[in-house]
Amino acid sequence: MTTTALPEAPMQRPYNFSAGPSAIADEVLAQAAAEMLDWPDAEGHSSGVGVMEMSHRGKDFISIYEATQAALRELLAVPSNFRILFMQGGGLAENAIVPMNLSTLRNASSAKGVVDFVLTGSWSHKSHREAGKYCTANVAASNALDGHTTLPAASSWRLDRNTSYVHLCTNETISGVEVHELPDLQALGCDAPLVIDFSSHVASRPVDWSRLGLAFGGAQKNLGPAGLTVVVIRDDLLGHALPICPSAFDYKLVADNQSMYNTPPTYAIYIAGLVFQWLKRQGGIAGIETRNIAKARLLYDAIDGSSLYENRVAANCRSRMNVPFFLKDESRNDAFLAGAKGHGLLSLKGHKSVGGMRASIYNAMPIAGVQALVDYMREFEQSGARTD
Ligand SMILES: *Cc1c(COP(=O)(O)O)cnc(C)c1O
Repeated sequence: MTTTALPEAPMQRPYNFSAGPSAIADEVLAQAAAEMLDWPDAEGHSSGVGVMEMSHRGKDFISIYEATQAALRELLAVPSNFRILFMQGGGLAENAIVPMNLSTLRNASSAKGVVDFVLTGSWSHKSHREAGKYCTANVAASNALDGHTTLPAASSWRLDRNTSYVHLCTNETISGVEVHELPDLQALGCDAPLVIDFSSHVASRPVDWSRLGLAFGGAQKNLGPAGLTVVVIRDDLLGHALPICPSAFDYKLVADNQSMYNTPPTYAIYIAGLVFQWLKRQGGIAGIETRNIAKARLLYDAIDGSSLYENRVAANCRSRMNVPFFLKDESRNDAFLAGAKGHGLLSLKGHKSVGGMRASIYNAMPIAGVQALVDYMREFEQSGARTD
């Protein structure tokens, strides 16, 4: 038996504003480090192995899997007629997997189904483009003419009466547009299910399952490490896969095999389970949502109240998770980023397609981190005012 010293976490790590993969709470990482060589079960008994080394079919890993499923179901108040699937491939794979499973829901006899897409930014554009390989992918609405800074009102969506489902990205990570209330498709005269990509705001706020058929998201923004993809699906939507759908991506097969049709991303599931325990200690979704609202308000108020910074997203759809902003004097961008790094504020550079800056303030970002950013932004603005 060998003993290895565990790495010590630095006293205070810098604040990480990365859009994804992104910050994970120190407590979670410290627990994972402590359990790396020998995972103890719920009663504290040594298993003798780390989680990465366990069979996914053994009782230790099954207990981790079941606890992680139960915690997510409780946190997100997922009703009993929805299944939670732990898959792989990320959000982008789901752009193909969803149409391969659901696109002929309404027209099973025809080879090609019809699906409506609401385009609100890069991620929904990617979903639409990929789905076109498997179905007739319509554009029901788009905010492209507004530079992806608005949200087309649901009443303006042009929904096809044959659509098998309606796709909506509820938080556009790059442009910073968030859907704050899910549309009620039935009230719009459409009885197809709503499918959402909630990759970048899952577990930051409650979900209204009564308006949804399916939600999917990669874990690496708010749930844990990359590698795990969470799919929550209403059970009547299982069992409609196209014949070409790979078996490992057939939702019914995945559900019937408790997400173990093939080996699931075991370590990522374990870390997500630790994140869910941490979330419960933060007061669950209600507690974290209150904190997320306060963080977003602090940052948007600082931007709106300054004469150097601006955010261009319409007030009714500004994201609480991803806050893109620009310096009105773009020649100061590099100085801003260098100074931020010096202040322990990392990964603030905007996405290359948008430019400027972006602060991703997911669940694991504490208020103190946003306060440190706002303080730095003010200091930077004032230093420029003095030298100009
Ligand atoms: C990050 C992200 C994705 C992409 O996920 P991958 O894991 O890279 O496939 C998809 N949709 C949204 C909204 C995202 O933020």
